[in-house]
Amino acid sequence: FINHLTELQSITADETGISIGAGVSYSQAFDVLRDEIPSLGRLIDRIGGQQVRNMGTIGGNIANGSPIGDTPPPLIALGAELTLRSHSGRRTIPLEDYFLAYGKQDRLPTEFVEKVFVPRPAEGSHFAVYKISKRRDEDISALCGAFHLVLDADGKVANIRIAFGGMAATPKRAKHVEDALLGEVWSWATVSGVRDAFAEDYQPLTDWRATADYRSLTAKNLLTRFFLETAGAPAELRRFELEEA
Ligand SMILES: Cc1cc2nc3c(=O)[nH]c(=O)nc-3n(C[C@H](O)[C@H](O)[C@H](O)COP(=O)(O)OP(=O)(O)OC[C@H]3O[C@@H](n4cnc5c(N)ncnc54)[C@H](O)[C@@H]3O)c2cc1C
Repeated sequence: FINHLTELQSITADETGISIGAGVSYSQAFDVLRDEIPSLGRLIDRIGGQQVRNMGTIGGNIANGSPIGDTPPPLIALGAELTLRSHSGRRTIPLEDYFLAYGKQDRLPTEFVEKVFVPRPAEGSHFAVYKISKRRDEDISALCGAFHLVLDADGKVANIRIAFGGMAATPKRAKHVEDALLGEVWSWATVSGVRDAFAEDYQPLTDWRATADYRSLTAKNLLTRFFLETAGAPAELRRFELEEA
């Protein structure tokens, strides 16, 4: 229990990004992130309940290494870097490299998580994170998906990072889906055409929160949701909605 270490409790923002000390509580992080990265702020506000948000820390959520911790997917999608510290110094690694396998993280016996640095999303880029759970509060995610998209001047995908929790033994990027989207026009034809690539990235489990089929379908649908939120509903989908109505 390290909540008394005030040196780990600072959160600072500048033009490059936001540096979050490992001991910063969810409530403290929410106060800053709701303005800096609103979608991430909204997610933090849905972790546990108010008591957990006041006591639980961003560092604990990461260090814990849970495949269903809510902060790693959005932080990985944003390209966050993790700083680990020990008596012999510090090292900084991409957050996604910290999660090696179920229950196994890249942390040496004497190391602790000191801070996480979240680069500020580029001007004009799109970022969103979606938590799927049965209740607003006090409910662990069945899955949690985060999307970070940069388009070029021609409306093509210049960069995309997609990361999910609840879909694998660790928080994990959807590299096959990302590769299928890279360089393509950000259109409904492109997005609907890459949905099946999720099966190459994730073979989720069935547990009491959700079935494997539910998780697989929802991951695809979250990509659709992200597309609709960034590009607006294309004609085919609007027609579908009208027919369904
Ligand atoms: C009722 C309840 C509801 C919850 N709901 C959610 C939810 O909706 N979403 C979600 O993501 N999580 C949820 N959690 C988990 C919670 O958010 C925290 O991630 C978890 O409890 C860790 O809390 P903590 O920060 O106090 O860390 P601790 O419990 O103190 O630590 C967790 C582990 O990480 C280690 N650790 C902590 N900090 C560091 C560090 N800086 N460096 C190295 N090791 C460290 C500790 O030694 C320990 O092994 C919930 C927990 C509870 C009890």
